[in-house]
Amino acid sequence: MSRKSIKEILKIASEMFPDAKCELNYRNLFELLIAVVLSAQTTDVRVNIVTKDLFERFPTPESLANAKLSEVEEVIKSIGLYKNKAKSIVGIAKALENKEVPKSFEELIKLPGVGRKTANVVLSEGFRIPRIAVDTHVERVSKRLKVVEPSATPLEVEEALMAGLDPKDYHQAHHTLIFFGRYHCLARNPNCAVCPLTDSCRYYEEHYQNKNE
Ligand code: SF4
Repeated sequence: MSRKSIKEILKIASEMFPDAKCELNYRNLFELLIAVVLSAQTTDVRVNIVTKDLFERFPTPESLANAKLSEVEEVIKSIGLYKNKAKSIVGIAKALENKEVPKSFEELIKLPGVGRKTANVVLSEGFRIPRIAVDTHVERVSKRLKVVEPSATPLEVEEALMAGLDPKDYHQAHHTLIFFGRYHCLARNPNCAVCPLTDSCRYYEEHYQNKNE
């Protein structure tokens, strides 16, 4: 059983998903930030449905800052954790009234509901600053393909990916790994039967290889 470098993994994954990109709809940095906060534990498809309505009703930080919490909850109630998320996005809008979305990690994580992953997505996607955001897909794929040990924390995954790649490739690597995880190496029922990476996969080894021996 071999272990491929992250560069080798990405070469194969990017042939499978050459058009991997951000699937959240947004028209500006503020909308991107709000969409990413809403996307925790929810699909991008679902987020795009609610943000269409949300951004129509509250198109600026000022309008969202002055919205009633109950109104915002009503608009986003079809997504998970909507009560907490409504509080976070109104809090963000209040903090950003008459200000730009910050371009710094330290400033972003001071905003309500914004953690390391969200800040990294905004920096990478919004500002093209070389960062790698580790979401559930990136973490799962990195562990299955032995980029890190199964016990690695999201921060350790982030550090391992960054150490193995050129900064100019971080942005696309993030999207490629997400697409690979979202559409091929799913949490349940990954597509192992047609996977070109079985020879270096911990999951495959545990679920198929050992059983055939
Ligand atoms: S063999 Fe299966 S679990 Fe491993 S990377 Fe491929 S799809 Fe994912």
